[in-house]
Amino acid sequence: MSEKRSEQRVKWVVGNWKMHGRLAENAALLQAVADGAAAMADTIRIGVCVPTPYLAQAQAVLSGKPVAWGVQDISTYTHGAYTGEVAAEMACEFGATLAIVGHSERRAYHAESSELVAAKARRALEAGLTPIVCIGETLDEREAGTTEAVVGAQLDAVLNLLSVEEAARIVIAYEPVWAIGTGRSATAEQAQAVHAFLRARLAQKDSSLARVPLLYGGSVKADNALALFGQADIDGGLIGGASLKSQDFLAICAAQKAASQAR
Ligand code: PEP
Repeated sequence: MSEKRSEQRVKWVVGNWKMHGRLAENAALLQAVADGAAAMADTIRIGVCVPTPYLAQAQAVLSGKPVAWGVQDISTYTHGAYTGEVAAEMACEFGATLAIVGHSERRAYHAESSELVAAKARRALEAGLTPIVCIGETLDEREAGTTEAVVGAQLDAVLNLLSVEEAARIVIAYEPVWAIGTGRSATAEQAQAVHAFLRARLAQKDSSLARVPLLYGGSVKADNALALFGQADIDGGLIGGASLKSQDFLAICAAQKAASQAR
């Protein structure tokens, strides 16, 4: 991937809070992230995906600040008798612009298929949210040598459902399941190899899709972020555990800014 094309791609660092947080601690975290992000917003985009009950709090603290906010899942429906589900439009009413879909924890614990994830991505787009579509292989799949087959199929499910125009508005997060919350990140070379594969697959569908941002997620920390974000096809990170401490999260954002400026 040429340097010029890399520069054209949006660079992101997005926090995935998962089911963490309480009002008081969120207030301090959101404020610190908003303050720290001010110095980086010229180069990169920063976001946080919070538990849905905290959307109003995120909106109150982050409005007018260079930090986007969003949800960690959405329904495929707009409204109706779907107890416990949250419609994309509901998130939009609280200023959300991002929606994670297909996180491996949703795929594993809620049996979400790649087709369902694709439908969620389309629903997010219809509502005006940017879907961050998570894909990734398990350790068994990697050891069996099927990583490309697995992530290729997960990506294809989305590309088969969306038009090229729609697909151009998504973000992909490659998150090897074995690296999530384990402290065992993929090496920069392992992550780059999968990102290059995904970018080629996107470009195969349509050359314009080579610009879709590809984030890496899985035990990203301040000390490995620069090596990961310095790779040619890695456009940023989806950050779990390290997004819960402002200092750690902002250090990762700073690494992305440094990597972007070095390109
Ligand atoms: C995640 O949950 O999306 C994630 C990447 O988690 P962690 O950074 O904690 O591995």
